[in-house]
Formats: sequence, C-alpha cells, structure tokens
Amino acid sequence: MITLEEALKLSSEDIKNFKKELAVKINKNKEIGAYIEQFTNEPINESGDGVPIAIKDNIQVKNWSITCASKILQGYVAPYNATVIDKILKSGLSPFGRTNMDEFAMGNTTESSFYGKTLNPLDCSRVPGGSSGGSAAAVGAGLAIAALGSDTGGSVRQPAALCGCVGFKPSYGRVSRYGLAAYSSSLDQIGPITQNVKDAAILYDIIAGYDPKDSTSANLEHISTSDKLNSDKKFTICVIENYLKEADEDTQKALNLSINKLKEAGHNIVYRNFVNSKYDVATYYIIATAEASANLSRYDGVRYGNRADCDSLSDMYIKTRSDGFGDEVKRRILLGAFVLSSGYYDAYYVKAQKARAYIKKEYEDIFKTADLVYLPVTPKVAPKFGDLCDPLTSYLSDIYTIGVNLAGLPAISLPVGKNADNLSISAQIVGKAYDEQSVLDGAYSLEKIIRG
Ligand code: GLN
Repeated sequence: MITLEEALKLSSEDIKNFKKELAVKINKNKEIGAYIEQFTNEPINESGDGVPIAIKDNIQVKNWSITCASKILQGYVAPYNATVIDKILKSGLSPFGRTNMDEFAMGNTTESSFYGKTLNPLDCSRVPGGSSGGSAAAVGAGLAIAALGSDTGGSVRQPAALCGCVGFKPSYGRVSRYGLAAYSSSLDQIGPITQNVKDAAILYDIIAGYDPKDSTSANLEHISTSDKLNSDKKFTICVIENYLKEADEDTQKALNLSINKLKEAGHNIVYRNFVNSKYDVATYYIIATAEASANLSRYDGVRYGNRADCDSLSDMYIKTRSDGFGDEVKRRILLGAFVLSSGYYDAYYVKAQKARAYIKKEYEDIFKTADLVYLPVTPKVAPKFGDLCDPLTSYLSDIYTIGVNLAGLPAISLPVGKNADNLSISAQIVGKAYDEQSVLDGAYSLEKIIRG
C-alpha cells in the first residue's frame, strides 16, 4: 500500500484510478469486516478527487450515516461535517468509508459492534483491538492508506498495536472534537492510524488546530510537525519499570530489546516505577462511565436514530434505550449513573477526580527530568475472539493506555517486534502536554532503529 506521504503527491487522475482499485480490494476482503460502508459520491474537495481516508463510525461526515456501531443510531444521517472532516477535505484528502468499532467506542476488541466482528489481518482468529478496530484493521490489511480513530482510553493506540500499525493520540484539546460523538468528553481525542510515523505526523498536522466550535479546544497555534521530523535528536527516556514487568514475557523481551537499541542510538535511558498503577483503571472507569451516562442520555428516541413503538413518553424512553443499546453500553450507563448518584458521588466520583489529579502529577514529576516516557501498549499480543469477554478482564487490559488520557498527554504506539507466531508487539512513547513534536521525533528515531 502506498503511504500517505506518497499519495499526497499523486495527480487527481491517479487518485481516481487508485480509488477504483481500492474499492475492488475492499470488496474482496469483506470477511475482515474493517469497513461498515464505503462512501460513494464522496464530498469533492478543492483539488477534485481526494486521497481516500477511512473514518471511524463516530465521526460525522455530512449526509452519511453515523451510528457509533450501535443499533440505536441506525438510520441517523450526519447533518454536518466534523471539523476534522472539513480539514481533511481542505488538504486534498477525502473520507472514503466508515469503519467498524466497539459500540459507542466502549471496548477494546470491536466485538461489541452492532455490525458484528472485525478480524485481525495478522491472524483472523484474533481480535483487531478496539474500539477503533475497523480503522486499524483497514490500515493493517492494506485496505486504507490511513485512518482516523478516536482515543478515550487507548482506542487509537491499542488497535494500531494489535494490527501492526502506528497510532497517535494528540494532547487533549489539540484536535477538535466538534462532530465526534461524545463518549467521555474530558478524555476523548481524535487521532490518526497510519502505516508509519511520518504519515501519523502528516495526518496530525492536517487535523490539528484551535476550533472555536469546541469549547475544550486548546487555544494554541498549531506548529506543523511533519516537516520538522528529526530522527537524530537525543532524548532522556524514562522506562516505567513496574509496568514493563507486568507485561507478558514476549512483550517484555521485545521492549527490552528496543530499549537496548535506543541506548545504542545515543538516547539516555532512565527507570522509574509508577506508584499510581493501582489507581489507573478504577479512576478511568469511574470518570469515563460517569461522563458516558450523561452523554448518552441524549439517545432517547426523540432526536436521534431509532424510536421504539410505544404508548407513552416514559415507555418510549425505556423501550428505545432497552432495545437500542447493547449490553456493554448499558453496563456503563448503569455504572456511571451509580457513581454520580447523590449517596455515592463523594465516595466514587469526587475521589476519582482526586486520583486523576494525582496521576497527572506523577507524570509531571517524571517530565521534570525526562523528555519522554516509555511503556508497553498492551499486556500481551492480540487476544483470540472471546478471550476478553469478561468485563473486568477487559478493563484491566487497558492499564497501559488510560493514564495518558486521564493526564491529557500526547502518546504514540508503534511496532517494535513480533512474537513466535508473527504477531505484532508495540511500544508506547508518551510526551509532555502539547509536546507532540518530541513524541513524534522519538517515535521516528525508534522506527528507524527497528526497521533498519
Ligand atoms: N477500552 C477503553 C474503554 O473501553 C478505551 C476506549 C476508547 O479509547 N474509546 O473505555
């Protein structure tokens, strides 16, 4: 598959032909289930035919369905473009189709989609990760040049890792959330899934920037990163030792090898333990579910998507929501409503906010002496279908990615090795808030070392 960097140099005619070939290829690979729908009559951008980009089914593309892979949103058509879609259209790209995901971005396997599962292109008996599993599988299978996903607690980095591609979550506020269906508003961030680090920087540059339509958008000038990528810069990189030791043997081996190579390349490696490790998962699942319970209250049969047959108003709410949401979404709405309820608010929600501040501070302390933090993305390689069906096991496997969202930091995942079954193992590089350039430079350097 050509890279985004190469595709952006193609003529309009070449892109047209490329898209025809891509459509045929996607049809032949239907069983992977990466795409839910291909857009025909895509919006035309300023340069005519745009470089095709796969879009997660929770980002609005005007006049196309957006369903968050949920039954409740079947039939809903986006009335306007998300800011990221307007931005890609302006840059010679165009949305090519919508990709599968866990329902409302809740999950890490894409198994909770209303449309059924997506297969991992590296091994079809395994999950592609989630919740942006369709976007990662599309890039990993050579069915997309690049894709957009959303990352609330790892949903860009984790599926990218399991499918052998690069996933980049920018700092909170760097990319507009306008037109992204909200899961947990204080954690959600749109990010690129690509074939390499340079493409991640290119796509990030295209979608980043202050947006007055998003009240949480960071009012900072966006300085482009891709034209300044530097693989020769030397960093102090802090390895989170206790996190690494909790990963399985193959992951530890691959990461330790990569750490040695980083040392040989002249980076300064230091080691620290995370004291917060026992709070990450609990804090995340209190805050994310609390915000989700509020955000998803809008799906009640009145304004969006499906409405169940009903005799009264309350009947309509109950039937529409009971029938429209899947089990995991219901579980999280219940959990979120519980932690926000008057008797438990202080015990859970307020405590989680305090823990969140503590987690953020622990990162800030590390960044006083280090430029970057280095840790695994997942505890092990891509699980088999059904292996993560127990909710608690599934939540615990998010341990390495969710702290980054709680602290609002930029982080990238990129492949550093393979296990004996040829499954991909990735490392994660985290940076200071708004220091995307260092994260990308560090990743560019590591990619060069690994690919040789
Ligand atoms: N797996 C995490 C969750 O289920 C993260 C999801 C995401 O980043 N959207 O909440």
